[in-house]
Amino acid sequence: MELMNIKDFQDMMKKIYIHHDSKRGIKATYEWLKSEVEELGEAIEKGGRDEVKLEFADVLAWLCSLANLLNVNLEEVALRRYSGKCPKCKSAPCTCSFRERPR
Ligand SMILES: [Zn+2]
Repeated sequence: MELMNIKDFQDMMKKIYIHHDSKRGIKATYEWLKSEVEELGEAIEKGGRDEVKLEFADVLAWLCSLANLLNVNLEEVALRRYSGKCPKCKSAPCTCSFRERPR
């Protein structure tokens, strides 16, 4: 197994799935991504290590599918936002006040 950057992985997902993703559309692909995130949560709660890993892979794959449909380069936007420091306090490690859960 060869290592890949995020861009190459996203392009590979496009090569494999864009015909299905285009047919399904943005809304249904987003729904699918949400269900995969839920499956990841369930695997963390009660699955084994292998199942957790598999669900991480599925979440990333569906995130790529959705990004492909919206013509978003994940590597570019992620690195622009998280360029070695927290986007809010501009520090690494982050010095923002700790928050347990999203608001
Ligand atoms: Zn911060």
